[in-house]
Amino acid sequence: MTTSNNYQDIREAVRDLCAQFPDEYHRKIDAARTYPQEFVEALTQAGWLAALIPQEYGGSGLGLAEASVIMEEINRCSGNAGACHGQMYNMGTLLRHGSQAQKDFYLPKIASGQWRLQSMGVTEPSTGTDTTKIKTTAVKKGDRYVVNGQKVWISRVQHSDFMILLARTTPLAEVKKKSEGMSIFMVDLRAAEKSGLTVRPIPNMVNHETNELFFENLEIPAENLIGQEGQGFRYILDGLNAERTLIAAECIGDGYWFVDRVSKYVKDRVVFGRPTGQNQGVQFPIAESFIEVEAANLMRWRACELFDAHQPCGAEANMAKYLAAKASWEAANVCLQMHGGFGFACEYDIERKFRETRLYQVAPISTNLIFSYVAEHMLGLPRSF
Ligand SMILES: Cc1cc2nc3c(=O)[nH]c(=O)nc-3n(C[C@H](O)[C@H](O)[C@H](O)COP(=O)(O)OP(=O)(O)OC[C@H]3O[C@@H](n4cnc5c(N)ncnc54)[C@H](O)[C@@H]3O)c2cc1C
Repeated sequence: MTTSNNYQDIREAVRDLCAQFPDEYHRKIDAARTYPQEFVEALTQAGWLAALIPQEYGGSGLGLAEASVIMEEINRCSGNAGACHGQMYNMGTLLRHGSQAQKDFYLPKIASGQWRLQSMGVTEPSTGTDTTKIKTTAVKKGDRYVVNGQKVWISRVQHSDFMILLARTTPLAEVKKKSEGMSIFMVDLRAAEKSGLTVRPIPNMVNHETNELFFENLEIPAENLIGQEGQGFRYILDGLNAERTLIAAECIGDGYWFVDRVSKYVKDRVVFGRPTGQNQGVQFPIAESFIEVEAANLMRWRACELFDAHQPCGAEANMAKYLAAKASWEAANVCLQMHGGFGFACEYDIERKFRETRLYQVAPISTNLIFSYVAEHMLGLPRSF
């Protein structure tokens, strides 16, 4: 149920794969708080998570529009792309800013699924959204960097072979611009865990594998620096438009899932001698949710179009993420409400999807920070922080 149905061939192929992993699969994984290993493996083996990797490295060289359809369909088929979306966009940083040797070394193995690059370590407990104040440092000593510090909320570390890490290489007091002096590194996670990295899982509201990381004299080979030292923050920002647009697509998938489920339910649920969906008080909020998901979808296509044409798309990616996260959350509320008590029963999957979609008001960027971006960059208002 949607007015836009482009990329039908990709949709059908992803739906066929997802059909092997029905509601019960995702429900059991959620209840057990485990990782959907078989599902992610199937997506990897089918090549879907290598959509954005160029063909010369073994990927399928598709655009962000196609990639976003893959993520949308996973969520629309009752899954949660949050288990694997990092594999889709993290490699973009390597692709755009890595050396030829790094791309030749990592990308073919990521494309084939031999290695996972699912993690990106940016957020820190004491600095939050104020990223330029990060305290994790990487100090060059000969042919190594020595890393000390702490990160929080770093996802999929236990199910990834590598992580892209942001750390300060020049103290904040010594740089002209606060966005300078940070660098990014490829971290071999399993090797790091043996010599200076401690991973502590954070139990949380969603079945999302996320962790606190503690670095104590972790040594990283200097050749793992991506791009130029000191420019890492710029490289990370570069990758965020893809991340935001893909997560917008996941929210759109969620939004359609909620609207589909609730529309079916209220046609069948008879109370006071007629389907609940015959009442305007029930059908209007559902119609409103559908309209809002559709509107968010248009902004998602606009962001994809600009990204794939190598045009600036920061505003559109942020606005798509805002609209889609808001629409999916409102659709989730309506779906839960119109199911009455049954919405709370795990076997309906609504409470699970409700929790999953709520995350995207906060991560990877919170709603307020999107408002700040739009106020400053689109409306010319003074920067508020
Ligand atoms: C499940 C989960 C997975 C995550 N995965 C990752 C990951 O893989 N890698 C990673 O690096 N990070 C990850 N994050 C971190 C996520 O990106 C941050 O939680 C998010 O950016 C918000 O930062 P914060 O939690 O530090 O909140 P804070 O920065 O403390 O902000 C808290 C609230 O205050 C508001 N606020 C703060 N400053 C302002 C201001 N100036 N004006 C208006 N409002 C303001 C924010 O909008 C927010 O709503 C994850 C988080 C979660 C919950």
